[in-house]
Amino acid sequence: MKAYISVDLEGVNGVIHSSQTQPNEPGYLRSLDLMHQETNAVIEGLLEAGCDEILINDSHWDMRNLQHEKLLQHPGVMVRSGWQKPFSMVSGIDKAPDRADFAIFLGYHARAGHEHGVLSHTYRAQIFYEVKLNDLPAGETLLNAALAGYFDVPVALLCGDDTVCKEATDQLGPILTACVKTAVSRYSAIFPSHKETLSLLKAKAKEAASNKKYWQVFKPKTPCKLEISFFDPSMADAAELIPQIKRIGARTIVIEGQDYSQIFRLMLAVGALGASRKDPYF
Ligand SMILES: [Zn+2]
Repeated sequence: MKAYISVDLEGVNGVIHSSQTQPNEPGYLRSLDLMHQETNAVIEGLLEAGCDEILINDSHWDMRNLQHEKLLQHPGVMVRSGWQKPFSMVSGIDKAPDRADFAIFLGYHARAGHEHGVLSHTYRAQIFYEVKLNDLPAGETLLNAALAGYFDVPVALLCGDDTVCKEATDQLGPILTACVKTAVSRYSAIFPSHKETLSLLKAKAKEAASNKKYWQVFKPKTPCKLEISFFDPSMADAAELIPQIKRIGARTIVIEGQDYSQIFRLMLAVGALGASRKDPYF
């Protein structure tokens, strides 16, 4: 059995402030340690369930966070590391014929605009003000699950704070979730015991791998419509340079089409274009 894990950082227990997620900031190294421990707990559960191949996609920031020598040593464990890589947080999920049987989203966080999800954002925290997929407010959970679904890979388990767990079951259906902290506000949470959290992750990973009833293939209705509102209208100016992009407001663009994988790529492209217009002073 082959498993795929997309590992982000903001949804890890113990992580609460943006500075903890940035290389060169105090607290980042501690966050990395917690990220490795949570990833190892999930790997342990998957190995116990009989998985023999586990592809881990480092999905945070420059995607060079995980150090493979600090992960549980097993011949079937591989890390997809570094930036830039196609499909970003779900890079490698498209690889046939060795596609994963199911995916796990670990360290995930609520969508941009959630009223109190810890470190809520959608892909580009300072560029994307709000993202909607087929009129549904979308976070990384929905966008990435839709790409996994495009390649017929189900999502089995999502781990993060209580708000992203709810987002996942509301939007994807009855997948398994592991709540590792309770959000109080965007920069505040209640942390449960570290040891208990690791036990929970291991148990949920094992349960997710062992029960296909939790495996949800999510396919958005086609044609798909992805609507992105930027923080700054100049970012929308840059995005609409791409011919397939339709501007529908001062700060809002729409990408429509039958092929979600192309829409996903265009979303990444307008994120990069938008970032090029970020004003450091204004
Ligand atoms: Zn993220």
